[in-house]
Amino acid sequence: MKVTEYFEKAKGKTLISFEILPPLKGSTIQEIFDSLDPLMEFKPPFVDVTYHREEFVYKSMKDGYFEKTAIRKRPGTIGICTAISQRYGVDAVPHLLCGGFSKEETENALIDLNFLGIHNVLALRGDARAFESKFVPEEKGHKYAIELVKQIVEMNNGVYQDEHVVNGANTDFCIGVAGYPEKHFESPNMDADIINLKKKVDAGANYIVTQLFFDNKKYFSFVDKCRAAGIDVPIIPGLKPVTKKYQLNSIPRKFYVNFPEELVKAILKAKNAEARIQVGIEWAVMQSKELKAAGVPGIHFYTMGDSPIIQAIAEQVF
Ligand code: FAD
Repeated sequence: MKVTEYFEKAKGKTLISFEILPPLKGSTIQEIFDSLDPLMEFKPPFVDVTYHREEFVYKSMKDGYFEKTAIRKRPGTIGICTAISQRYGVDAVPHLLCGGFSKEETENALIDLNFLGIHNVLALRGDARAFESKFVPEEKGHKYAIELVKQIVEMNNGVYQDEHVVNGANTDFCIGVAGYPEKHFESPNMDADIINLKKKVDAGANYIVTQLFFDNKKYFSFVDKCRAAGIDVPIIPGLKPVTKKYQLNSIPRKFYVNFPEELVKAILKAKNAEARIQVGIEWAVMQSKELKAAGVPGIHFYTMGDSPIIQAIAEQVF
């Protein structure tokens, strides 16, 4: 079923969903099952699986030189999606990136997904790779997520990149895109970012999942601005608990989001690792309860290998 149909059918009830990362290369699918098994009691209608493009690593050579090599450390997104659907009978939503894909490779990936019965995707641009100062599109690839959305919509209308395809079969993908309650870091301001988000929706995106945030006021204000700009699709808040001291710096650096001072003080005041986890859980529970009371369509938890913590939060909210 399409992600948007779940929200329609829920008739105002807040749904829960999870996002997982493929494990590092060399792991087994059991690692994914071990982290998802305990979360299935909350009956998520769908689970997202992130996509990780290749990274550049430098290998030192015998002659003292370094060799630059591209390696994908977390492959397996589509395989994991299929395994999740088969094991749990839920819909799995693969993330698709512009970065690292030509349009033809995207087309082929979409054909695989369609054949596998996976009809939801989250369409993203992706970030610059390590050692690159800005996002560089693939040759014959897309520069912005909106172009990827347009390609998927074209396939839904039976139009393929490959001009040899005549009377191409229509696919039926439901398309999610990313939104940023604290604005995307490259955008000059929030209004400019929302104009670009509106364009993604006008191009055919069916729903939005937000970047993680720790201050609900940011989400509510973002939704108000989106609605004022004419964006009328569901906007699903994305949450991740902070449970470690170093995350006070690593999360803002990676995700360009702010921590409320009250949360920072509570994490710093906590006496040990266990107490910090408790602070993070309580904060996320507080956020979730407020969002639920406000009638959000769903809450999307970024599990990032922290399943027991997400489970502890979900137990108190769902
Ligand atoms: P876009 O929508 O293309 O926007 C990127 C920037 O360009 C924004 O500043 C936007 O305002 C601007 N812009 C857009 N269109 C135009 C235009 N026509 N002209 C000028 N400027 C424009 N990354 C991964 O690598 N793998 C994942 O699995 C993954 N999952 C994610 C899931 C969620 C819910 C979120 C919020 C992010 C995820 N990301 C993931 C990170 C994402 O790839 C980055 O945030 C990336 O920098 C932007 O992606 P986007 O799809 O929002 O890009």
